[in-house]
Amino acid sequence: MPPVSHTQVHISEPDFRPKDTGQDRFSMRRFLAWFLFFFYFSGVHQTIIYFSGIAGFFGLTQALVMSLLWLVPVMLFPAHGKLIAGIAGVVLWASSLFSMGYLALYHQDFSQSVIFITFESNWAESSEFLHSYFAWWMLPALAIYTLIPWLIWRRLQPVGGTPLTRLLLAFAICLAVCWPMLDSVIINKDSLADGFNEQVNSMEPVAPWQLVMGYVKYRQALSNVENRLLASDKPPLEGLVDSNADTPSTLVLVIGESTNSRRMGIYGYYRDTTPRLKAMSDELLVFDQVYASRPYTVESLEQALSFADQLQPKLHLEMPTLVDVMKQAGYRTYWITNQQTQTQRNTLLTTFSKQTDEQVYLNNNRSQNSAQYDEAVFRPFEDLLNRPESKKFILVHLIGTHRAYRYRYPDTFKIFNNNEDLPPWVRRKRHRREYNEYDNSIMYNDFVVASLIEQMKESSQNGYLVYFADHGEEVYDYPHHLFAGREEAAPTPAMYSVPFLVWRSDSWKRNNRIDVSYDMTHRMYSLSDFFHTWMDLAGIRFSGFDPGKSIISRWYTPGPVLIGNPAKPDALVDVRQKFFPAAATPVTTMTGPVPEVLQPPTPAYAPGYGAVTGTMPVLDQWMLNP
Ligand SMILES: [Zn+2]
Repeated sequence: MPPVSHTQVHISEPDFRPKDTGQDRFSMRRFLAWFLFFFYFSGVHQTIIYFSGIAGFFGLTQALVMSLLWLVPVMLFPAHGKLIAGIAGVVLWASSLFSMGYLALYHQDFSQSVIFITFESNWAESSEFLHSYFAWWMLPALAIYTLIPWLIWRRLQPVGGTPLTRLLLAFAICLAVCWPMLDSVIINKDSLADGFNEQVNSMEPVAPWQLVMGYVKYRQALSNVENRLLASDKPPLEGLVDSNADTPSTLVLVIGESTNSRRMGIYGYYRDTTPRLKAMSDELLVFDQVYASRPYTVESLEQALSFADQLQPKLHLEMPTLVDVMKQAGYRTYWITNQQTQTQRNTLLTTFSKQTDEQVYLNNNRSQNSAQYDEAVFRPFEDLLNRPESKKFILVHLIGTHRAYRYRYPDTFKIFNNNEDLPPWVRRKRHRREYNEYDNSIMYNDFVVASLIEQMKESSQNGYLVYFADHGEEVYDYPHHLFAGREEAAPTPAMYSVPFLVWRSDSWKRNNRIDVSYDMTHRMYSLSDFFHTWMDLAGIRFSGFDPGKSIISRWYTPGPVLIGNPAKPDALVDVRQKFFPAAATPVTTMTGPVPEVLQPPTPAYAPGYGAVTGTMPVLDQWMLNP
């Protein structure tokens, strides 16, 4: 005999109990328990943000209102309420981990640009990243963070109330949740699109919408950039003249990654992390006051490789880029990359590389082991140097000294292992290890860049090679701020100081003279103006060329070196004021000799005293001893 189900029992035995028992009456206490469950996933995050003063009350209010949304299906389908809450809970929990993790690591709110950067990097990179930030306390914290909503969920009970009550409640909630849009469209008579934007802005601080909206915006930006960057109908630059038009020439741009120039021996760092470059330094122009405009790869490079800068950040979409101009000048253009962002996925960086005539993607390894050393670029570089075209532009994009640092060099480059000469504030075991690993990765990067210069030299081609890094990296450089990585909201010189070297062949030097004045290599310079330096080096002129923005020009004019997110123009700040307030001379009056504080680095510390770095320019000493 089959077991008798409860429903059958109810049908066979008429229920004489009154319909509205205490059980069925709407319970505010239970309703609040459901609300608490959904609010938890945005509320904890926003509460911490509010009380630690990172941001205002807006996020918290939005979390309160928007968390109501999940109560709608619970009201409408009370029988499945717990299942709905369970599924929604898992989604909310997972997406809230991103913002909680970001808060734990950086003490910052999860912003649009962070989401973009997240989607730009791949899983291998992210896991290396997580690995390098991992701390033991995160596991119990994660366990507690997960346990609390689970306990609430187990105790959830139907809120009760008649279908009509629940329907009205659901309607009221919808009204509250959609209020930003309704208010804008109905009361303020804005357009539907504006109303929609209002709604998006209100939902952004709340899980899981921060990820959903972030992804939608990222896809929009990506297709926008793709359409504009790769458009074939871009108008060419007017009045373009190439003074080397009749000479075969090979111009090479090597772009490094996450390399703080102040950790390089050639810039005066107390450890000799760049013996090879140092050995050839009299063949190089070594610029020592060059700063990235943004501490992130794509954001920095889209300015360095185009007319765009901090004040006009969209010009890379409106005007020809560096690659476009090289093509217009008759160069065959190549892009070799060992960056991992090329794995089948389309990213903003891939789009940039696609502008060239040919690309060589080396790091197609999708496995966890994303360690592919930069020497992988030697062979394709050699091949391209041997190509018969008379005018070649080769861009080599290295993985450089990107974290996790220990994946960037082979064992033979484990040079710095001792802790005796570490700065005294680098005490913790993990910090010491990472400090050494970063220096080893710089040592390997020295080998790679110097080898590329050697290759270029041996090919005896007429031309030059420029090397810079897209941005710096802080690796426990400051005693009062033990941090490794980059954070735009808390900028330091280590995150922005980049190496900038130029090697020129003898024939190129003869035919393209540069007036190497005594202070030229100490000029304050923003990488966002690099486009003009490159064109000046190449001997390419066009209407709109600005020699004031060329670091090698005798007409170079020191302008502000702006850092910060250009989407918030008020937040832009000049490197001088930010890092070297002692040198806060108004930029426009900076004529005549370079003020003492802007002089090149002079070692003030010796490893014997146990302090970081002889590399700290006078400017940075202020940071160490404010
Ligand atoms: Zn980068």
